[in-house]
Amino acid sequence: MATYQRILVAVDLSSESALVVQKAQLIAGPNADIHVVYVQEPMDNVYVGIVPQSAAFSGLGDLEAQLGKELKEKLIVLGEKFKLSPDHLHILHGSPAHEIHRFAKDNKCQLIVIGTHGQKGLQLLLGSTANSVLHGAGCDVLSVRIGATL
Ligand code: AMP
Repeated sequence: MATYQRILVAVDLSSESALVVQKAQLIAGPNADIHVVYVQEPMDNVYVGIVPQSAAFSGLGDLEAQLGKELKEKLIVLGEKFKLSPDHLHILHGSPAHEIHRFAKDNKCQLIVIGTHGQKGLQLLLGSTANSVLHGAGCDVLSVRIGATL
C-alpha cells in the first residue's frame, strides 16, 4: 500500500498538539509533505447574537491581530520542534472544520490528522471540531487518541 504523501495536521496549539504532529510524522512516507494548520476563529463569532452592539467590539480587530501574532509564534515553535519548513505552517481564519476541509481539498491532501480532543472537548467521546472534520472530509482522517487511559 502506498504511504500518504500529502498530509494535513490540524492543531489547536494546546500542549497535546505535539502528539498529533508526532503521529503524523510516524505514518508519513519518506518524502511526504506535512502541512500543519491552525484555524483562528473570528472573535466576534463567539458573542454575536449575545451582545452584538457592545462597545467591547471596537478594538477587537487589534486584539485579534495581536492574538494572531502570538498564535503564529506558537506554531513556529511547534514546527521547529519537528523540523518542518515554515512554509508548511499555516494560520487560517474562519470556522475550523470548514477551513480544514477547504485546505485539504485545495492542496490535494490524502490524509487529515487530528486529535480526538482539543482543549475544549475532553468530556466528549470525540471533540466537536474532530467530529465535524470527520463528517465532511473528502479524504482519510486519522484521529489521534488524546488523554488515553490504556
Ligand atoms: P476539539 O474537537 O475542539 O476538542 O479538538 C479536537 C482536535 O481538533 C484538536 O486536537 C485539533 O487536532 C483539532 N482542532 C481543534 N481546534 C482547532 C483549530 N482551531 N484549528 C485547527 N485544528 C483544531
